[in-house]
Amino acid sequence: MTNTKAYAAFNTKDPLKPFDINRRESLDTDVAIDILFCGVCHSDIHIAHDDWGMTVYPVVPGHEIIGRVKAVGSQVKGFQVGDLVGVGCMVDSCRTCSACQQDLEQHCEQGMVMTYGSEDPHMPGHMTHGGYSTQIVVDQDFVLRVSEKLDTKAVAPLLCAGITTYSPLKQWNIKAGDKVGVIGLGGLGHMGVKFAAAMGAEVVMITTSPEKGNDAKRLGASAVLLSNDEAQMEAHAGSFDFLLNTIPVAHNMDPYVPLLKLGKTMSVVGASPVELHTMGMIFGRNVIAGSLIGGIKETQEMLDFCAEHNIVSDVEMINMQDINQAYERVMSNDVKYRFVIDMQSLKG
Ligand code: NAP
Ligand code: ZN
Ligand code: ZN
Repeated sequence: MTNTKAYAAFNTKDPLKPFDINRRESLDTDVAIDILFCGVCHSDIHIAHDDWGMTVYPVVPGHEIIGRVKAVGSQVKGFQVGDLVGVGCMVDSCRTCSACQQDLEQHCEQGMVMTYGSEDPHMPGHMTHGGYSTQIVVDQDFVLRVSEKLDTKAVAPLLCAGITTYSPLKQWNIKAGDKVGVIGLGGLGHMGVKFAAAMGAEVVMITTSPEKGNDAKRLGASAVLLSNDEAQMEAHAGSFDFLLNTIPVAHNMDPYVPLLKLGKTMSVVGASPVELHTMGMIFGRNVIAGSLIGGIKETQEMLDFCAEHNIVSDVEMINMQDINQAYERVMSNDVKYRFVIDMQSLKG
């Protein structure tokens, strides 16, 4: 076991604090990673605050991990010491069920092993701990290859915000010329805008924040739609081929559904209770869909797409010690557009 510095949440209210954890001794199939950067996802905050009623404390959040390989097991193929790698939201799955066989490990019938907050199959009685830490040990099949040509710290958010927005755009076959609305310009939303624009779609940023309009256009949106302006919403009614809903808090979806064309889909990735009257979707014959991160194969495809199209996240760097202020700022909708922790600050 390797003693490892980390930051953890201990209950729903108190600030995150330093916490020492043990990483397992590397198995033959493991990759040991020295963590360089870790993004701060709104899901980390949901878990730290137990918004989903599933948190086991203490929990070390963080599932947007970039690091360098520092050791490989004897059976590891394709990774070498020094390689730049990523780890996203999951670190294992059964590999044999129908979902795993379809490269959808996030839907593993045995339950994926999440990067944090899952029972650790290698350390009975312990939970997995995430990337707010200096090192991690992960099975080679759940380690991603990262291009050296991108800005490394800005790659970290691709491991969750990136794949979570890329995957539904692919699932629903977004193509050049489609009118795509991205709802919410935060960590996920800003990646959704970049990906949809790179796929050739006409992207409309649907936001509650008028001051984000210029940024939305810089990121690739051709227009900005203020969701609390009824006249603007009416003007766009029935015009969208696809909506990607990233809103992280409880909200009413009824104003958004009529934006869709007949039969078209809103994919929801924000994880909160919503209010929805079925009349809107009935009359529009619309699909309200969900989407959960993406499988390992698709995550690698997304990272390769980013290298090819020179896509990274827009990041604000913080030290590990600043994590509690960063949480406050994400909750008050004040981040452009993803906080990333420089893990050097914890190694010190
Ligand atoms: P974030 O950075 O906080 O961004 C969310 C954005 O939603 C905000 O920037 C804001 O954009 C908009 N928003 C906030 N409050 C709103 C409200 N009351 N009404 C309407 N819009 C509001 O969060 P994130 O990291 O992108 O995560 C978004 C959600 O996705 C979270 O619930 C997270 O847990 C979830 N998530 C899901 C998956 C998955 O696999 N499905 C993966 C990762 C994260 P504007 O200022 O533009 O309105
Ligand atoms: Zn996440
Ligand atoms: Zn499985």
